Amino acid sequence: MTEVLGLVFVAWLVYVSDAVWWIKPDRIVLYGPAGCKLGAQLGPRFVLRGSSGLFIPGLFPTFHMHFEVDATSGAAQRTKERDIVAVAEQACAAARRLHQLATILWVHCFVLAPALLVTFGLRRVWIFIIVGLFGGAVVIIGFFARAWRFLYPSDSPGWKREVLPMVLSPFAAICAADTLTRPLFLSFNGLAVVRALATREDFLRIVRFYYFRDDPNPAVHALLARDFEDAVRTPPARAGMEMEGYCPRCHTQLTRLTGTCPECLDIEIVPFDAITPSGGPSDRFQSAARH
Ligand SMILES: [Zn+2]
Repeated sequence: MTEVLGLVFVAWLVYVSDAVWWIKPDRIVLYGPAGCKLGAQLGPRFVLRGSSGLFIPGLFPTFHMHFEVDATSGAAQRTKERDIVAVAEQACAAARRLHQLATILWVHCFVLAPALLVTFGLRRVWIFIIVGLFGGAVVIIGFFARAWRFLYPSDSPGWKREVLPMVLSPFAAICAADTLTRPLFLSFNGLAVVRALATREDFLRIVRFYYFRDDPNPAVHALLARDFEDAVRTPPARAGMEMEGYCPRCHTQLTRLTGTCPECLDIEIVPFDAITPSGGPSDRFQSAARH
């Protein structure tokens, strides 16, 4: 029993190390079920070095879609919402079969194999477990290659490079759909992709982050903020009457009126009473927003 638990634990560690990926602070990961508005995570979930760190996707079935975009990509990058939605739909269709196969392989590795090991012992079932593991990975690689050639026609042979980790560790095949879809939008304007695919709440949170700061790409963000400017400047719902001010960038609420945000450092606090009775921001708010 202890040996079985040890084997499953090692397998789980290998699987987790294959599933997580390194992410830089200006990268945004879009995640969620296919066909729905996606969540958007700016930068890593676990910061490890500088502002970079790890993104950890869902490790249990059912598996979700993941796209990664660059928040600072230039104005010349593709921005058309119709194109973005069409590419996302193609990716979801291509990833669906990989997700189904990944679920079967996951169940084989982490449910069926441990149950068989406990019931019949390693000597009687090891061949079944190994054949299932490598057989499952080979089938997934086959579907991955076909889907890659369809989604990346200008980089058709690139699938060979991408499947190398799956050849070395069959557990990586469980994450094949992420490997397939993650880089799909790197040639697009990152914030335009977030606008098209993410929830409005997550889009506004990320746009605020770039809008209220000295921006290396002001044209891009002015373009994106134009239709959303009022929403970007809308204050958060006041959490309590003791809250005197808030950060226009991260919406942290504070019990003081002045100074800078403890999270964003160079962003000045905006008083809640800066909002005029008509609902529009006062001059003071406008002045804080320009910084
Ligand atoms: Zn802040």
